[in-house]
Amino acid sequence: MRNADLLQRSLKAVWHPCTQMKQHASADLPLIPIARGEGVWLYDFDGRRYLDGISSWWVNLFGHCNPRINAALREQLETLEHVILAGFTQQPVVELSERLAALTGGALGHCFYASDGASATEIALKMSFHFWRNRGRPGKQDFLCLSGSYHGETVGALAVTDVALFRDAYAPLLRSAATVPSPDAREARDGETATDVARRAAAALERHLEQHHAHLAALIVEPLVQCASGMVMYDPEYLRLARALCDRFEVHLICDEIAVGCGRTGTFFAHEQAAIRPDFLCLSKGISGGYLPLSIVLSTDAVYAAFYDDATARGFLHSHSYTGNALACRTALATLDIFAANEVLERNKLRAVKLAASLAPLAGHAQVRHLRRRGMILAFDVETADAAFPRRFYRAALAREALIRPIGNTVYLMPPYIISDEEIAHLGQAVAGALEEALSA
Ligand SMILES: *Cc1c(COP(=O)(O)O)cnc(C)c1O
Repeated sequence: MRNADLLQRSLKAVWHPCTQMKQHASADLPLIPIARGEGVWLYDFDGRRYLDGISSWWVNLFGHCNPRINAALREQLETLEHVILAGFTQQPVVELSERLAALTGGALGHCFYASDGASATEIALKMSFHFWRNRGRPGKQDFLCLSGSYHGETVGALAVTDVALFRDAYAPLLRSAATVPSPDAREARDGETATDVARRAAAALERHLEQHHAHLAALIVEPLVQCASGMVMYDPEYLRLARALCDRFEVHLICDEIAVGCGRTGTFFAHEQAAIRPDFLCLSKGISGGYLPLSIVLSTDAVYAAFYDDATARGFLHSHSYTGNALACRTALATLDIFAANEVLERNKLRAVKLAASLAPLAGHAQVRHLRRRGMILAFDVETADAAFPRRFYRAALAREALIRPIGNTVYLMPPYIISDEEIAHLGQAVAGALEEALSA
């Protein structure tokens, strides 16, 4: 009863994200009411459960209602919930900034705070542009992104997002950015490795920079995995070459690690696998453990120095009401504590291998292509002309107690880092079963 009641009220009063609401009016795409969460599981009011195979849009790292994060949040709640960050400061925001800087080996020692990923993208773009203006290069005001890139959906972030479904409807509002080819490893021609594809894409980047560098402020990339366009994976060689080219042509490199940061790809930051440092690093999603909206843009001493001046107008003039929110920062600190205490990255190596093993039987499936993995992200593409496949798969997975939302014909898993062997087996069986059901429709 409570399931049905909440569902009806939600359909009336809540405008759900990334959704054609009319589809929810039919039984074809039911809205799922959730009463509570525990670990990798989400429960409705009737005791039905779903394994959160996508970490609730890639944000959850250590399970729902994690006791350790809950305790930290409770303690913070009794101390200070929030205070203006202009002219004031507090313990959680200072500690978090210091610890994040330390995680970059001190290379990115200045943290700017916002509440969501798209805002972090906009902050990095504005900072880059303003850096060049402060340095006497006001002509550098364009941005470059990869084909298939996703950096958020506010008007500024959408300009560097190359996903047609999100971008086309609002194209007239955007100050469009140029795109260069993605180093998508699936583009390998006969005999080519992923590294060869990366070099080919970097050559295209070089040609673009040669022509346009005078007007370019920054190149923005999602290191190693372009998640939103379908878990597009690529070789770290591309990041190495892109870093060298950006240095040569005096263009900033922005690493958007909103999705791939916080251990998702196997290292704490994805860019570590290329042994490079960006000029700007964007974090959000997992950084607060999946608890509270928080985003951060880290930048270098060189960037910071360009704004440090007597003139107010040369400062970075940007703010959000909840900038540096103490509760959100405290959950982020609790999240980093779990990384430090539990050897998470080390344990995830084995976990990721087990996840891959649970999908391995699909490698021989006649309609499965490009079964791939980077750290705790696993994906494969399904060859089918059925436009309803993603929805069919999603429903078939729900019927098998698993939350898995394909992106187009790409099925992926991105579970919380606490998933057990039993739960991995559950997820693997749900994927195999849902695939058969969705394809036999
Ligand atoms: C999710 C995401 C964003 C946007 O973050 P929001 O909090 O949804 O605004 C930006 N970049 C990447 C790579 C993302 O995955």
